Amino acid sequence: MFNSLSDRLTGTFRNLRGKGRITDSDVNMTIKEIRIALLDADVALPVVRHFTSQVRERALGAEVHEALNPAQQIVKIVNEELVAILGGETRRITFAKQPPTVIMLAGLQGSGKTTLAGKLAYWLKDQGHTPMLVAADLQRPNAVTQLEVVGQRAGVPVYAPERGNVEGYDAAVEYASGTRGYGDPISVARQGVEEARRQQRDVVIVDTAGRLAIDAELMQQAADIKDAIRPDEILFVIDAMIGQAAVETAEAFQRGLDFTGVVLSKLDGDARGGAALSVAETTGKPIMFASTGEQVKEFEVFHPDRMASRILDMGDVLTLIEQAERAFDKREADEMARKFMADEDFTFDDFLQQMAAIKKMGNIKSMLKMMPGMNQMRDALDALDEREFDRVEAMVRSMTPFERTHPKVINGSRRQRIARGSGVSVSEVNQLLERFTEAQKMMRQMRRGGGMPGAPGGGK
Ligand code: GDP
Repeated sequence: MFNSLSDRLTGTFRNLRGKGRITDSDVNMTIKEIRIALLDADVALPVVRHFTSQVRERALGAEVHEALNPAQQIVKIVNEELVAILGGETRRITFAKQPPTVIMLAGLQGSGKTTLAGKLAYWLKDQGHTPMLVAADLQRPNAVTQLEVVGQRAGVPVYAPERGNVEGYDAAVEYASGTRGYGDPISVARQGVEEARRQQRDVVIVDTAGRLAIDAELMQQAADIKDAIRPDEILFVIDAMIGQAAVETAEAFQRGLDFTGVVLSKLDGDARGGAALSVAETTGKPIMFASTGEQVKEFEVFHPDRMASRILDMGDVLTLIEQAERAFDKREADEMARKFMADEDFTFDDFLQQMAAIKKMGNIKSMLKMMPGMNQMRDALDALDEREFDRVEAMVRSMTPFERTHPKVINGSRRQRIARGSGVSVSEVNQLLERFTEAQKMMRQMRRGGGMPGAPGGGK
């Protein structure tokens, strides 16, 4: 996502670096390159125009900032304008004063609504809420079952018509056949919300039907559901991969439903990012969440500022830290911090513990990509084989407890034993030990000198 846009923009800035002064023609040149980069990323033309004119005005308008060199000033302006078109401030869910808070999901079929329903429910539950899902997508065969599976994964109850709990719904057979309607989605939605209220659930997420293209009947159904359940939030889910069509689709849903927020799904794909950069600006509605994979945890609150800094390869260290906080047990983290301060050597046991935490955090590659400067290493990261982590883990598990805390004792014959035990070659064991000694050394240095050796300064 955003890879080529990010490369182009950072490349443009690289050309400015080292210039003591930036002339008007440098600015014009830079703007031209930004324009091409945005158009190539499928950003809608009016958005591109607005963006470049803002940047130009500010860059030429001698917005002087003493602490920054001229190139940094342009990066700062571009960054701020990117934040602005992505919606500015992070927008949180507005919870109803009287629970349950009703969240309605809308969007085209295949946009990722049902998947999102599970993620959102899981995330809300993690924050101490008591969500319930309602299956009001009665159009697509299997949508109800899919939502039930998703709900089960998220550990959240699902209100669905197939249980025969819908007024006027008489034929389970009808559902099983998967060809005709499963009842009336509007009354399912209404009863789902009532059921949530009865069970004292504090949030109810209503999944609605989508079609392959925008059509009047679909929009009417969604509008009727909206009237019936009076949602506190209507989230419009859009597949980030649909490129230029994003704006048109978003505008149609905006007219039909006047949604309150946008969710970008499939941000993990290699879409060029235009949807993300156009939708908030053209609809005036904030992007609230991002869906980044098929798993229930692959979901993020959308922070315009963090996304802008990811695009400009300034990294997204805040998101990384939050994910780490979610994955690390508080006690483990405290213990790790204590060890670190106490000048105790890092052992293979710590290493195993960290690997387990990293695994809990989800996809390792996508996490590494959030570090500043990592965009340039993208190819190397893509080549990274995640199974490598399993091999490393197997090696560490083949060490004795004493070896793990005293790696220095691992001599030749022990190395052979470890290699045999974990099904790798001795040279792989050698490499691991070498890297581990390096890591230990680095930790010691960090403790003494403060700061990461070799890490690029600056950033945010
Ligand atoms: P719906 O028709 O809008 O309910 O869409 P679904 O939730 O059924 O999603 C359609 C397809 O996209 C499914 O195969 C999902 O697994 C997949 N999908 C949904 N969200 C994401 C995402 O964020 N990333 C990826 N890679 N796939 C996703």
